[in-house]
Amino acid sequence: MSRIAFFCIPAHGHTNPTLEVVKELIHQGHEVRYYSYECMRKKIESTGAEYISCDDYDFEQKLTPADGKRVAEDMSFAIEVLVNSTLAMDDALLEQIKQWNPDCIVADSMALWGKLIAKKLNIPFVSSTTTFAFNKDSAKVMQGSLKDLVKVLIQMVKAKKHIKRLQENGYDIKNVIEIIQNDNDTNTIVYTSPEFQPYSDTFSDKYVFVGPSIRPTNNVFEKTREKLVYISMGTVNNDMTIFYKNCIDAFKDSNYQVVLSVGSQVDIKHLEEYVTKLESTAQFHVLTWVDQIAVLEKADVFITHCGMNSVSEALYFKVPLVMYPQTNEQKGVAFRINELGAGIYLIRDSVSDVQMAVKELLQRVEYKKQANEISVSFSKCGGSRAAAEKILDIALDNKLRYVKQFDKS
Ligand code: UDP
Repeated sequence: MSRIAFFCIPAHGHTNPTLEVVKELIHQGHEVRYYSYECMRKKIESTGAEYISCDDYDFEQKLTPADGKRVAEDMSFAIEVLVNSTLAMDDALLEQIKQWNPDCIVADSMALWGKLIAKKLNIPFVSSTTTFAFNKDSAKVMQGSLKDLVKVLIQMVKAKKHIKRLQENGYDIKNVIEIIQNDNDTNTIVYTSPEFQPYSDTFSDKYVFVGPSIRPTNNVFEKTREKLVYISMGTVNNDMTIFYKNCIDAFKDSNYQVVLSVGSQVDIKHLEEYVTKLESTAQFHVLTWVDQIAVLEKADVFITHCGMNSVSEALYFKVPLVMYPQTNEQKGVAFRINELGAGIYLIRDSVSDVQMAVKELLQRVEYKKQANEISVSFSKCGGSRAAAEKILDIALDNKLRYVKQFDKS
């Protein structure tokens, strides 16, 4: 039996893909401790893992929703938040983990503290990457425009002072790049297929592309019209009332069934009233949260912010995409989908643009065909079993090293 410690940030998009991996490890008889935050507790405990709260270390540092947006857009600010959390956890967690003595630490690529604790305690480490894997080649896709690139470079200079704070506290980190990119020596799980990952052939065999981790669902979404349009801007930057209203106006005279998952930052009552007052031929469901897997199983089109999980889930179910990315990372994902032909961009969110984009996707079968191809590439990957296997290989290596050392002495 191995002991595995997981670390993640409090975000559904980063947590969800790990859950099936945790279940697989536990199913195989291993012990898992998952360091995370109260808002993720229920889903983590449902896997059978032991949940350990990191809330006292205040990851969010009283961030407002506007700050949340800034984290996605301003790398220097994001690194400041990550470094603050790492330093806050330093003493308390380090000792606890030393005592438990895991065979392997698996940390989300944003949960910097997991990676640094592993380094400090000399525990084998696996990075869990829920976005595309990042190196100088794939960065070409992720960086977006030249303007974005210049912005990133300026932010990297600003972030240097936070790196210094880590160094002053005994962390062996040389530069910003070490934080945002895994080198070819880091064992890394990537939740996509080599076909979908840009420049996958530039990554070493330490990388394992396991495909998206699609959580099973027992819910069945009832499809009542011939065409089902699903709209979601994810769980973080989803405060977009005007966009949702434009989508409602775009489809009010159609015969579609339209599901809008609008999150909890908008005034949902206002949107519900807006729909009720319309004399609409469409059937609308406006909800703060849906079982996205159940909806995507039946959807014909997905209007999405291009969060990596949402996109992977949609493509797994062969659903073509209308892409309305907001952050650089989402723009990178959209760029790749556009390259592979499984979706089209929504440049402006006007009523007529939304209408045209959905019409185009429904009329031209090529988008669906390309979505199907990507889905096939996903199903060829090893999934949560392959991810668990990678982690256990690394944990076992560690045990063998320990036994050899013991034999020598
Ligand atoms: N999600 C869901 N129901 C909703 C909205 C989102 O289950 O109503 C899930 C979705 O299936 C995905 C995650 O939340 O697994 C969102 O992650 P993504 O990477 O797409 O975007 P983020 O929220 O991180 O921007």
